[in-house]
Amino acid sequence: MNFWKLCGAVLLWLASQNSLGAQEYGADFLTGDIRLVLHADSPAVQGDVTYSYRSSGNLDSIYLDTRMVWTNWVKIDGKQTNFEFHPENNKLAIPSPRDTLLHYLSIDFYGIPDQTVYRVGYYDSIPGNEQIWTQGQGKYSSRWVPSFDDMREKVIFSMQIEMDSVFEVIANGVLDSVSIAGEKRRWYYRMEKPMSSYLLAFAAGHFNRRAGQSASGIPLYWYLPKGKSFEGTTTYQNSIEIFDYLENALGVPYPWKNYKQVPLQEFMYAGMENTGTTFFSDRYLTDSISRSDRDYFNVNAHELAHQWFGNLVTEEDGRSHWLHEGFATFYAYKAEMEIRDAQAVWWRLFETARQLEFQAEKGEGKALTDPDAGSLIFYEKGAWALFALEEAVGSADFRKGITAFLKQYAFRNANIEEFLSVMEEASGKPLDGFKLQWLDSEGFPMEWAENYLAQQSPSVSYYLSLDRTGTNSNQDANNTGFSQAWNTFDLPAYRAQLIGKYKMELTPADYELVFQSSNPKVNASALAALGTLPEWSLKWATGLLNASSYDLREQALFAIWVAFPLERNNILNYTRNNGSLNSETFQQLWWVLSVYTAGYVSQSEQMDYIQNLQFSTAPGQPIEVRQNGYALLEQLELIGKQQLIELVLSSEHHSWQFRNYCRRLLDRQIAARPDKLYWEELLKAIPKTPGTSSNRAEFEPDYLRKKIAEL
Ligand SMILES: [Zn+2]
Repeated sequence: MNFWKLCGAVLLWLASQNSLGAQEYGADFLTGDIRLVLHADSPAVQGDVTYSYRSSGNLDSIYLDTRMVWTNWVKIDGKQTNFEFHPENNKLAIPSPRDTLLHYLSIDFYGIPDQTVYRVGYYDSIPGNEQIWTQGQGKYSSRWVPSFDDMREKVIFSMQIEMDSVFEVIANGVLDSVSIAGEKRRWYYRMEKPMSSYLLAFAAGHFNRRAGQSASGIPLYWYLPKGKSFEGTTTYQNSIEIFDYLENALGVPYPWKNYKQVPLQEFMYAGMENTGTTFFSDRYLTDSISRSDRDYFNVNAHELAHQWFGNLVTEEDGRSHWLHEGFATFYAYKAEMEIRDAQAVWWRLFETARQLEFQAEKGEGKALTDPDAGSLIFYEKGAWALFALEEAVGSADFRKGITAFLKQYAFRNANIEEFLSVMEEASGKPLDGFKLQWLDSEGFPMEWAENYLAQQSPSVSYYLSLDRTGTNSNQDANNTGFSQAWNTFDLPAYRAQLIGKYKMELTPADYELVFQSSNPKVNASALAALGTLPEWSLKWATGLLNASSYDLREQALFAIWVAFPLERNNILNYTRNNGSLNSETFQQLWWVLSVYTAGYVSQSEQMDYIQNLQFSTAPGQPIEVRQNGYALLEQLELIGKQQLIELVLSSEHHSWQFRNYCRRLLDRQIAARPDKLYWEELLKAIPKTPGTSSNRAEFEPDYLRKKIAEL
């Protein structure tokens, strides 16, 4: 789904970056040393920060951004001084000497951030899964430390974080030391180069770590939650190759001292490229089967590319967001082409081109320079624009220009015009036409994209020729159109498309060809094309219960169960023992089908399975699993009181997609039972535990309260 592609680009926030354009902090801030105390059992964040700065010399005050954080004292050069908080723009104003000497500003702070710092694993029955972590982009780091919401202020940060000893703490930079501080441990991370505040990040949790090294000698650290084995996890495969590829392709060494990748529970995006410290959703912790369902390769390459495009060179404001997302998406495709399967990527690009064309035809196209353009534009049209630019200037000059741009704007900010002028210089070609067509226009040049793809990929070219001539002219009297096309290229992405294209006219003989494929994408496409399974497909469909994709196994189980009642016991028995139940969503479907297969299990087992399904929606389970469980329970009308309580907790969840899902489900539950007393009783049963889903000192069921008031 699309939101899994997002890596922190929140559009409202982008738009607001524009209005900050004229912002002045009154000084150039050089270093920022943060000291922070975290608590396992409290959402409070406290500490102090010392910035070194040189005043610009023309203002009486210097300014910092701060939100939801209280300050008791401010010192300049060690001496306590006055300060003023301006709530209208969340600024702290501090009188400062009007000279241009180096000064030190220290501030203490305390707060309970309602966003940016998230506590997960605190309201569930699973021991040892507690985590506290940050998401800065789109949320403002100034919610937990007085800092700079404007991306143009870059500072060399260090972080000293105290946390209960059982937790491991990860933050930007190099771990300098770990020391004991009473019942806590004190972790000291430092950086050597400046970055924007939105990239500040820390995570506290229970992790194991493995180390590797790039060809250039950069230490790479891969984290896993305790209890998960590196041996069975495919997630980090190709990490070194991706790293080496990007360093070579960009011609600029990786700009930071090390690179860590940290999987987090209930993370709201696929990944976030905090400097040197990428956080990503633990749903990407896959085994050799689930990797076809949730493949980390693209996220891995995308977030790493941001270490240059975003972190080393940062957009001036939201109008140049292409410089972050378009470039990260483009280089992730490039890495996949180089390391894995170029043809699969061309087919993926064909798909995104069609999405962009469709969007533009609906009149919903946007220019890449529009800060409100949305993720499809920033990511996919952004990547397309770079393929077009590479084609326009030639790949040698393209690489030369990229290298020059990264060097010229390293540790600084840039806008699109500055990038284009570097490219013009590197290539000697004017790029006004390129800018007009790809960056300023709201349309998508589909014809150009198709011609380009046809040159790169013989299979796309052939497929397009089928489209242009119409399928009939390729068919002779024996209806060999499909089989001829099928045999022309042995490529899964191509064949999956072909099945969709010919699905209305496919014969059992055609399917005999298709059924020989072991590729999950091809088989998923065939399963969808068949609809209700015919008798002659049973053997093939049963084979899919062993597919190298849990999603496909799940689809096959359901399709067989529906079409072949006599097979129900067999397929349930078979999948009980073939490893399919490793997938939580497969397991959920299996419970439901077992309960609804007459005589398959005893009545007490039926009760157990329903209870298991209900438990699978509880906090502590992955969000998608909970959502899938809720959908099944809703259809079966099995949402009980405990599920309603958990639904109320999740109606304030930090992931807005999940929060909205829970709110809509709660709406339907209330509509089905518009009894005010019932819901008021439920309200009393909601636990006040802090950290259940938001960070407020006590949990506040605001949404349910509002709905009750409307009853
Ligand atoms: Zn991104």
